[in-house]
Amino acid sequence: MIARRFLIPIVLLALILWAGPVRAQDGQTQYTVQPGDTLSLIAGRFDVPVDLLAQANEITNPNLIQVGQVLVIPDAAQVQAHQDAASAQAALAGMLPGILNSAAQVNGALVDMLGFGSMRPLLAQMTFLASRNAALPLPFLTLIVPDAIVQGETDVVWVTALTPFAPTGAFQGRELVFIGDGRSDAGYRFFALLPTGALDKPGLKKLMVHIGPVTTERNIQIKAGIYETQHIVLPPSKGGLLAPDKLKAERERLYALWGVVSGPPRWTEPFQFPIAEGFPRTSPYGTRRSYNGGPVSSFHAGSDWGAPEGTPILAPAPGVVALAEPLFVRGGAVIIDHGAGVYSNFWHMSQIDVKPGDVVKTGQQLGLVGTTGLSTGAHLHWEIRVNTLAVDPLQWTEQDFP
Ligand SMILES: [Zn+2]
Repeated sequence: MIARRFLIPIVLLALILWAGPVRAQDGQTQYTVQPGDTLSLIAGRFDVPVDLLAQANEITNPNLIQVGQVLVIPDAAQVQAHQDAASAQAALAGMLPGILNSAAQVNGALVDMLGFGSMRPLLAQMTFLASRNAALPLPFLTLIVPDAIVQGETDVVWVTALTPFAPTGAFQGRELVFIGDGRSDAGYRFFALLPTGALDKPGLKKLMVHIGPVTTERNIQIKAGIYETQHIVLPPSKGGLLAPDKLKAERERLYALWGVVSGPPRWTEPFQFPIAEGFPRTSPYGTRRSYNGGPVSSFHAGSDWGAPEGTPILAPAPGVVALAEPLFVRGGAVIIDHGAGVYSNFWHMSQIDVKPGDVVKTGQQLGLVGTTGLSTGAHLHWEIRVNTLAVDPLQWTEQDFP
């Protein structure tokens, strides 16, 4: 009797795990992303499931594909394996809760009885299932979220799942980007960086995480940070400098760049300061700004150091140069892609020593301090964007993410 009770779930579990992540193979159909394409349009055109297409191309965020990107199109056999795994997953999700209590008693004797010697890891996993947090719906196995975050700080969400499909999620209307972090006996591990902005409203906010059709929720407290308010009076002549279309074009271009998640983290330790010690910090991250007596409408997106023109600017962590050129508002600019949707930005530079595509190491010189663009004196502005949101860069020098 015991054999029959466990045989079906074990076979279903084997099917799910056997399907595994799809890897690109030689001779597969490829497709180059065209303007106006979305991942679901492309999936529809080739009649493949959109999550499989994403998985086959290691796309963690389906909204982030780029024109010119070459996608591998899964073949019929891969689509079939994916559908089998999905229906097995659904069947297992319906069946497991009833047997979980007794699953803890599963041991090597059952393995021998069934003659499935090679399935020992699966049984270890089922035993783990019995001890997991019972409040979580399968295929979630564990979900770790912070209880509270201070405005402007970054935190991390961890998920372990029975299935290899990257979770999706959202917090305060912003999409979470989950990145695979390997697999253990306890399941497939993923993390998402959880950035908050200096102007996020304090209070209890809902975080949602999805794996396929299964959703789970947690509440996270946003706590007020200590930020000053700066009242800036712009003379009418300076208003003209805010040439609205140039400003908008520059901002849109940067947001498009910051939205790209190029791969896993390239850093392995806390970031270093991008400038030598001893220069005063002239304006911290998060200072609220009100213009001409109006309400607070923005905040200082980076941290400023007062330093003479010509002071070297150093890479705070490994990465790839994503932009290196003079911009209208931000002046001489370098942007480093650190992976995982994390970007370091340096503005107002007098000299740029790197070019797009350069791979940079921690401490490598990127250029020199200046006062180009919308700037009133020589200083370094360093800004970190996480999934497009400006967060406190100093936290990144103290803490190792994820
Ligand atoms: Zn600044």
